[in-house]
Amino acid sequence: MTTSLDPAAVIAEFIDAVSPYDPQPEASPVALLGLRTALGDETFTLSDHVIRAMCRALASYRDPEDRGECIGCGGRHLDENLHCKDCGRLHGILGQVIADHVRRVAASGAGSAPGEPA
Ligand SMILES: [Zn+2]
Repeated sequence: MTTSLDPAAVIAEFIDAVSPYDPQPEASPVALLGLRTALGDETFTLSDHVIRAMCRALASYRDPEDRGECIGCGGRHLDENLHCKDCGRLHGILGQVIADHVRRVAASGAGSAPGEPA
């Protein structure tokens, strides 16, 4: 469960965290960011330094839910067992073992899937 954050406070905190390192604090802002939330409207002036810091933060960002891409459907929704929630494909060593077993069963002509009576 996640608590909701105040988006304006998050942006203000980001700007405050990176601004002390701005090599050109007197330079003109490069953007004016207007933000409308349930709490009201806020406007932020963004320096080139803040924009560059956002780029660096994005480059180093990794989503905790990111477990890679499904090689079956290209989806991005693999669960903690590397099971694709979109197409059902299993990844990793277990997925490979199961896929190999299914191929062997199919090649032998047994016609039964794992778990079914032979
Ligand atoms: Zn998939």
